[in-house]
Amino acid sequence: MEIAEDAREAVRSQKSFASHLFEGSFDANQLFPFPEQPPEERAKADLFIEQLTTLLHNKLNPDEVDASGEIPKEVIADLATMGAFALKIPAEYGGLGFSQTSYNRIMMAVASYCGATAVLLSAHQSIGVPQPLVMFGTEEQKRKFLPRFRSGAISAFALTEPGVGSDPAQMQAEAVLSADGSHYILNGEKLWCTNGTIADIIIVIAKTAPKVVNGKSKPQISAFILEMNSPGVEIVHRCRFMGLNGIYNGLLRFTNVKIPKENLIDKEGRGLAMALGTINVGRLTLPAACTGVAKAALSIARKWGNERVQWGMPIGLHEAGREKIAFIASTTMAMEAMSWLTSAWVDKGIDVRIEAAMAKLFCTEMLWRILDQTVQLRGGRGYEKASSLQARGEEPVPIERMLRDSRINTILEGSSEIMHLFLAREAIDSHLQRVQPLLRGKAGAVEKLKTIGKIASFYASWYPQQLLKPLWQSRYPDLGPLAHHYTFASTFTHTLARTLFQYIVRYREGIVKRQLTLGRLMDISTDLFAMAAVCSYATSLAKTEQRDSPIALADYFCLLARRRIETTYSSLSDNDDSETRALAKRVLNQEALWLEEGIIAGASTVKPQPQNAVPA
Ligand SMILES: Cc1cc2nc3c(=O)[nH]c(=O)nc-3n(C[C@H](O)[C@H](O)[C@H](O)COP(=O)(O)OP(=O)(O)OC[C@H]3O[C@@H](n4cnc5c(N)ncnc54)[C@H](O)[C@@H]3O)c2cc1C
Repeated sequence: MEIAEDAREAVRSQKSFASHLFEGSFDANQLFPFPEQPPEERAKADLFIEQLTTLLHNKLNPDEVDASGEIPKEVIADLATMGAFALKIPAEYGGLGFSQTSYNRIMMAVASYCGATAVLLSAHQSIGVPQPLVMFGTEEQKRKFLPRFRSGAISAFALTEPGVGSDPAQMQAEAVLSADGSHYILNGEKLWCTNGTIADIIIVIAKTAPKVVNGKSKPQISAFILEMNSPGVEIVHRCRFMGLNGIYNGLLRFTNVKIPKENLIDKEGRGLAMALGTINVGRLTLPAACTGVAKAALSIARKWGNERVQWGMPIGLHEAGREKIAFIASTTMAMEAMSWLTSAWVDKGIDVRIEAAMAKLFCTEMLWRILDQTVQLRGGRGYEKASSLQARGEEPVPIERMLRDSRINTILEGSSEIMHLFLAREAIDSHLQRVQPLLRGKAGAVEKLKTIGKIASFYASWYPQQLLKPLWQSRYPDLGPLAHHYTFASTFTHTLARTLFQYIVRYREGIVKRQLTLGRLMDISTDLFAMAAVCSYATSLAKTEQRDSPIALADYFCLLARRRIETTYSSLSDNDDSETRALAKRVLNQEALWLEEGIIAGASTVKPQPQNAVPA
């Protein structure tokens, strides 16, 4: 916990839109006007996307990548020539110098076409060497390593281990400083390292010597740049998955690998902070990528909804079909709004760790629902592979592959459950800060009494404000037909903050164990952010493009979000949580083993497939 909290401290800065939400303030000013890219920058990104689209259309068939498990070497070489591995690297280090918004627009386009290729580019530069180096590297490190990516060097990020997933502070990989202090000696294993089987350089996170702080030994976690051709680096296995068949993901083993001391990023002990800082921005690629896939699904759903006639009517016009089409289109627009808003905030230097986590949680979960509904709308064809559809003369619609490729999104770069916990920790932060002096062992009686006085006077005014503010809040006339959604969102923001506070008072330190309660509160806050983002986006689109469909989509999205918020809010007090806890415990205690009888258990061993071989 101590390590994780230290890492968190490093990225704390000024308050953002969502951190205000948790404190009962819906600051609409932060959302208007909806950010627009400077025309020059937009044109540069448009040109790059156009060239990339031509390359992918001419040379890459995503269904072949899926079937063969390989992205053609020629395509990777062409991507390198274009500078696709140096998108966000500043021009002074040889990169293309794209902003976060342009980078995410490019990733959205690639992801809409081929998931594996998007992962190749994104694992390299959303979390691989370029991102942490630009954020935390020394000038010398930047000059040495960054120009290599313009000529196509590929990188990866190695944090996860076989025994360590969501809780990286427990890692086992260890880097020991040599006796002469010139290098570290790395030993350990890293699992599921995307690009790991083809990477030239990776970021590896490992334990270093513990430090004694206040008489206590404190574990240190550090980050290093590692050349993959170093002696002792072994690619043990190329991992294969349900989808994303063309990704180059592996189990890596390090045996007495020498890492020069100058390859340490930042300082010893700052590795987890660096990893979290990197992921806080890096995870913004996922919302953009998910938006790209959602747009592709929307296109499939709209065409099939019109084309396929059953019972005398296009299936999209049957009421059950309409519900799917309306959900897919309106939710896609909310995903896009969150993606562009958060990307623009990064470009402005705003700390978006809370909004990035919300966007990641929302977009990955919603994409899964969108794809599931698109498969359903396609009926049997939704379940059929594109190659099979094509072989019998139909359009090769790849929704089956898109569904498989997208399943991982709610698991990696912080699973949905971990996003709930991450957001909850941020949500209770300001309250925790206020009581912190009381928790410090060394605080004297006078200091404690003063703190209690301050806390009492703060909450004596803050809490009634949360009850009363909705009575005299703004009415948002500029939002036209969407104004009432902002009124709802700002009113509900007070309800959210008040309810969160009530639960903190009720459960005190035990609040962190109330994952179901916290999860509901975080889902509500995420939907509030989505509503805020989509209304601002729609208002801007309606003005600049002179059409009213953005307003209709945003309005419908907000209607759905409001129903979700109200249902989730009711389930805070009306739920089966205690029954859930009790029953799960009994099942884990093997009291329902009888229910597993009567099946043919799956094979526990399989012969290794030839394709599992590690490339030479
Ligand atoms: C295709 C793919 C690519 C990947 N790429 C990379 C990469 O490039 N680099 C890298 O370092 N890693 C990578 N990973 C690892 C990925 O980030 C981890 O899978 C992820 O962090 C989750 O860890 P885990 O799988 O060990 O799950 P676990 O941590 O074991 O969690 C299993 C389940 O328990 C839940 N859970 C865990 N802790 C809690 C808790 N406290 N409360 C409630 N629920 C909890 C999780 O949400 C999850 O549902 C990749 C994984 C895959 C499959």
